[in-house]
Amino acid sequence: MADKLNQLTLKQAVEGLKEKKFSSAELHQSIIKRINEVEGKIFSFVEIVDKENPKQIEKEGILKGAFFAVKDVLSTKDIRSTASSKILANYVPVYEATVVKKLTDHGAEIIGKTNCDAFAFGASTENSGFGPTKNPWNTTKVPGGSSGGSAAAVAADECLFSLGTDTGGSIRQPASFCSVTGLKPTFGACSRFGLLAMASSFDCPGPIGKTVEDCEIVFDIIKGKDEKDATSVFYPKKKQVKKNLVIGLPKEFFGGGVENEVKNLVSQAAKILEKEGHRLVEISLPNTSLAISVYYILVPSEISSNMARYDGIRFGSNRESFENEVKRRIMLGTYTLESGYFDQYYLKAAKVRNLVKADYLNAFEKVDLILGPVSPTPPFGIGELINNPLKMYLSDVLTVGANLAGIPGLSIPCGFTHDNLPVGLQLLSPHFSEEILFDIGRQFQQITDWHKRKPKL
Ligand code: GLN
Repeated sequence: MADKLNQLTLKQAVEGLKEKKFSSAELHQSIIKRINEVEGKIFSFVEIVDKENPKQIEKEGILKGAFFAVKDVLSTKDIRSTASSKILANYVPVYEATVVKKLTDHGAEIIGKTNCDAFAFGASTENSGFGPTKNPWNTTKVPGGSSGGSAAAVAADECLFSLGTDTGGSIRQPASFCSVTGLKPTFGACSRFGLLAMASSFDCPGPIGKTVEDCEIVFDIIKGKDEKDATSVFYPKKKQVKKNLVIGLPKEFFGGGVENEVKNLVSQAAKILEKEGHRLVEISLPNTSLAISVYYILVPSEISSNMARYDGIRFGSNRESFENEVKRRIMLGTYTLESGYFDQYYLKAAKVRNLVKADYLNAFEKVDLILGPVSPTPPFGIGELINNPLKMYLSDVLTVGANLAGIPGLSIPCGFTHDNLPVGLQLLSPHFSEEILFDIGRQFQQITDWHKRKPKL
């Protein structure tokens, strides 16, 4: 068993350790061995902590022995946090992001920092200043982004779970591309303190795990009010979830532009849930086609003001070393906030954001949750979209809506294409109703085994 410990789920690992089936040093050793085996092929990590010595964990807590990976946009005290940008190559924070601290306070151990698109701007991890992460299922493909390293590390069993961040899909889309489970929490459910800000009214840290159950364990620890983040809230008490739910399938999520194989696998997944006693109804989210335009006005606007801190004096070194996509976003945002264009772009987009949000809220009057694909395509090739930013942006069409509305979303493995590329199912529910996603997601993983498959690396 000892050399397969890295394949355990978080729940299995924590329980096994408690029952003394193995030691934390054995678990650590097995994870490090795996990292050494596969990192050369996939490059999930920009920094690995304590690579050499097997770790016997002394600290107690319900997550004792839970070795986890952290997206590099989350600050880790005394561990380099670069946001995968060259400009922060030597930045070592003096404090810890709240979501990381909550986990380590419960006994979890940071195994390393994962690669991402620089400052989380992207959908493929190719915008990293340190080179792209590769998809463990097919190393010629992207792992998705921006939390590509976090998803790849879980898929390749280089950690028990990881943290990512989702501003426009960056947890859900890489989870889908790497066939792992990812939760984008409700905006405000998890503290943003210590997160290197991208777009402050969108950013959500959240878990990526091997199962829905594991994501729930992590979410229950990281959620809740943090006095250091004014937008965080006290998470309401979990409600009892109804046995038979009404699931809305938005016709806009199954339209042109979404590849047939993706549509088919996601429709099959919906039918599996129907057999379990849930009711499927077609719904409409009429403003879906506007979501991308609104997102790519509001997010760069917020980015351009957040990036002002990397002025080479307080943070960052030479601004020349900003990656191309970082420069592009700053320029886009500066343009949309310029006084002459403010009303025309930013203000208008802020109004249309409310229309998109209203679409979701209206839908939740009729249905308990929404189901659709995460991404219109399976993982694309490395280099395929990198020189076509517009096409890259369009790949976010099915994920940005949840961020504009602030609602939670879960991405779960739901099959593979004919050439063995993962496809993910997206479930969306009303604000602060993550329990619905976990309930139905758990049910799905009890009857399917997509999440148990392992990539051959
Ligand atoms: N792909 C989206 C973007 O480039 C989402 C990024 C994110 O969620 N961090 O903005």
